[in-house]
This record gives sequence, structure tokens and C-alpha cells, in this order.
Amino acid sequence: MLEQLNQIESQALGELEAVQDEDGLQRWKVAHLGRNSSLMKTFDQLGGLSKEERPAVGRRANEVKRALESALEKSSSSLRQVALQRLLEAERLDVTLPGRTTLRGRLHPATQTLREVYRVFGEMGFQVYRSREVESDEFNFQLLNFPPNHPAREMQDSFYVDSGAQRGDNPILLRTHTSPGQIHAMREFAALNPDNPPPVRIILPGMCFRYEQITARSEMQFNQVEGLAVGLNITFGDLKGTLTDFARRMYGQQVRSRFRASHFPFTEPSAEMDIECFVCGGQGCAVCKRTGWLEILGCGMVHPVVLRNGGYDPERYSGYAFGMGPERITMLRHRIEDIRYFWSNDLRFLEQF
Ligand SMILES: [Zn+2]
Repeated sequence: MLEQLNQIESQALGELEAVQDEDGLQRWKVAHLGRNSSLMKTFDQLGGLSKEERPAVGRRANEVKRALESALEKSSSSLRQVALQRLLEAERLDVTLPGRTTLRGRLHPATQTLREVYRVFGEMGFQVYRSREVESDEFNFQLLNFPPNHPAREMQDSFYVDSGAQRGDNPILLRTHTSPGQIHAMREFAALNPDNPPPVRIILPGMCFRYEQITARSEMQFNQVEGLAVGLNITFGDLKGTLTDFARRMYGQQVRSRFRASHFPFTEPSAEMDIECFVCGGQGCAVCKRTGWLEILGCGMVHPVVLRNGGYDPERYSGYAFGMGPERITMLRHRIEDIRYFWSNDLRFLEQF
């Protein structure tokens, strides 16, 4: 009986050495420690042994059982170690590889210029006033002193919206300039105190739309940013001082500027402002078309009719307004030759800013 137990032990331990994986281990366990294994059957036979034999055989059988169990434990943990090692080899991960950079968006070049304009005028006490892009003919033209059939409308061929309800002499259209915002803003300010309207210092940015042939110089959609100052005792001198300071802050302290007489229906008198060409320093080059000057904005004193339409009595109040195109400023600064790049969504262009 003892001899048999020794044999069971040595056979089981021998077979265990050949086991390679978890499945094999499980099969080995069933074969040598399971209910039908030779070892377990030995325990069943203990009752049939003589009193003298029983203790020795029982002790030995327990010894063998413990030996097999601990061998199984050892083998199982070393198998797990090997499996882990294999996994580490197969799924090697190099933590020293640099990470992939995330693609980040950036501000559109026209928006960057707009924000610079906000910054300069913000320092001078102007607020940003946003106005709607869909307007009525009344706000886009009539209240700004463009009566129906006024020739100046010719320059602003428009996208009219067939809304059904609003036709006749007040159709709906996409705004052709940011100026209707002047009327909205003045009326909003005036409503705060109709007898004594507060002063207005605002800039109005936004997209405008005109029914234009698209070329390298003109687009049917573009940004405009305009400014409006209304109050007591505002003169043309204030306009010139403010805009000259703007030009210096935007284009450098040394930049010279000049005003030329012009015409707009909603300002009187009206002017256009040039700055000395920052490409050639006034010598004359292709960018300034050999003149040494670059036109950067239109401006003027707010027309009395416009003041009255905004709720400000032109006998007491005066004001000035100005407007410019952020895309045009960006084109001049970066010598961009085709305005169509701005809305063509070409990353090769946009990523340069
Ligand atoms: Zn030049």
C-alpha cells in the first residue's frame, strides 16, 4: 500500500513537469487529485485496512496529497508568470514615443483683423454692437437716407428675399452693409431716455451681402466693421482725431494719414481716409498702385436725417460714422491678391494665419 502511494506521487509529479498551460494543469488536477484519482481511492480503502497498517498508510496518503497540492500551486503560479511574460513580449509598448498632436482650429484671418479693430476702439471706449443680417429695405436703405430709386443703391445690388408678407416698397433683403445697425442702436439708446438720449460709442461688425460678380477683388459676402459716435458737440475734428489715432494704433505710430472728400448718402460731409503705404513707405509700389497711399476706410458726419431717424434731434446732437472692410485690411497687410481665398475653406490658405 505504501509502495503504491510512492508510485502515485512520483508519477503525478513527473507528469506535472510536462504540463505547459492552464488547460493541462486542470486535466492534471482531475487525474491526480480528483474524486476518481488513485490517491482519493486510497483514502476510500483505508477503512478496509488492519488497525496496524491504517495510521501509517493514512499519514502517507495525506503527505502525498499535500505534496501534490503544493506542487500544483507552484506550477500554476509559474505558468501564470510565463503567460504574463509572453504577453509583455507580444504587446510591447514604447512609452517614449512622442504623442500625436491634436489638430487645433484657429481664428479666421478676417476675424483676427476684426478683433484687432475691437481692441483699438475698445481702448477708446467703444462697445461692440451686433445687429441682424436680414433686414428690411426701410432699415437697410430708407432710414439711412437712401430713398427708393436713389442712385447710390446702384452700388449695392441686393439679395431680396421673397417673404410673401413684406413686398411693395419695403421688401426683405440680406443687409448690404452694417449701417442699418446704426438705426437699431440709436433707437435702442434713445429709448433709454427719449428726452435726453445718452451718447453712443459703438462699433458694428458683421457679414454683409451684395449681388456682385465674384472676382479676385469682390465677393458677394464680406465683413464690414463700422463705428458710430453720437453726442453733444461732436465735430469733424473729433472724427479726424479718433481715426488718425486708430490708424497709428493699428498700423504703427509713424503712419501718416490723409482725408479726401467723398460722398455717402448717410453722412454729410463725407470723406475717405488713406494711410501712407506701409509696404513702400510712400515711395510708390504695386500694392498702392504707385500712389504711395492706401485707402482704408470711408467716414463722415452722421447725416441729420439719419440722426432724426435714430431718435436723436440733429439740432442738439451730432456724430460721426466710419466703415471699413476687415478682409481688405487683411489683404493689404499680408499682400493677399485674391479675396476669394477668404471663403473657399482651403486649409493651405487658412493655416498661414
Ligand atoms: Zn506702396
